[in-house]
Amino acid sequence: MTSDAQALVQQLIRPEIQALSAYHVPPAAGMIKLDAMENPFHLPEKLRDGVAEIAHGVALNRYPDASAAQLKVALRDAMKIPADSGVMLGNGSDELIQILAMAIARPGATILAIEPGFVMYRMIATFCGLRYVGVPLKEDLSLDVEATLAAIEREKPSLVFVAYPNNPTGNLFGADDIAAIIRATPGIVVVDEAYTPFAAGKSFMPRLAEFPNLVVMRTLSKLGLAALRLGYMAGAQALINELEKLRLPYNINSLTQAIATLVLKSSSALEAQAEIIVGERTRVFHELAGLAGVTVFRSQANFLLLRVPDARASFNALKDRQILVKCLHGAHPLLDNCLRVTIGTPAENDAFLNVLSEIL
Ligand code: PMP
Repeated sequence: MTSDAQALVQQLIRPEIQALSAYHVPPAAGMIKLDAMENPFHLPEKLRDGVAEIAHGVALNRYPDASAAQLKVALRDAMKIPADSGVMLGNGSDELIQILAMAIARPGATILAIEPGFVMYRMIATFCGLRYVGVPLKEDLSLDVEATLAAIEREKPSLVFVAYPNNPTGNLFGADDIAAIIRATPGIVVVDEAYTPFAAGKSFMPRLAEFPNLVVMRTLSKLGLAALRLGYMAGAQALINELEKLRLPYNINSLTQAIATLVLKSSSALEAQAEIIVGERTRVFHELAGLAGVTVFRSQANFLLLRVPDARASFNALKDRQILVKCLHGAHPLLDNCLRVTIGTPAENDAFLNVLSEIL
């Protein structure tokens, strides 16, 4: 049986899929979890009461509202989405990246992204049989504008991803540079604003009308609602209308719709938490900068990238002390001996800093 199945795999599954490793999520039970850019704080008590009421009243026997109409109204309002732009919802922004890739998939079509960047851009290109071109950042992790514009000219990508701020580097590229990329690209440019809540309001959302090929993508995951899996993107209505055809029916479940609508109506509660996270980011940055052997990079996101003498050893030693961070050594040449740590609660950050200073 096993060898039959193996033969089937060889025969049917595309070689590039066989060569992939599945997206790895390490077990985290009992750990201080600083590896996935989640908001470390629970929802405020009052909102949790509202969630309990929703859970009690929701009609689980019925399919969700396929157009998620109420949620879209709340989202447009809370996130200041221009009234004449289209909006589309995904089961996390991961799903939206996949829908965008499916929409442009044809032989020879190309996705271009900045590297190191969010790994799903490359993975989803592979899922959809697309060419993928990564343009490296400069040694100091700043955007290589000339190289990016040259690659766009050469590769004529159908789809470009720029995360603003970038993951895993945490920095925010120049708005003028991104605007130049959008203008130079013959295809769609997705400005992925997953970390915008921590970037002092820097966003391309108000500039949608300027660029017909711009899509602004966001998520509620980093803001405190990772469990709900809700991503959204805004862009020209005509483009969103086409992308909507690729969305599976009912991709946003009823609990997510109702809970996200409730929370977005009180979004100041999440913004207040984001403010605490930004304050902690500054504190942790300065503490890390004072540790011998550590280089820490400036961040506009809810995490910090740091270089240590031996990232694998530090990762393992932290893990032995129940602290989970992300080891990026080996992920990209620019990330040698780098770790990425999500900003946690003040107590979690202290635990991380104490253990790191002990083990270095
Ligand atoms: N974009 C970027 C830049 C990210 O870092 C992430 C999550 N790590 C995502 C998108 C996906 O977020 P989600 O699917 O949770 O919305």
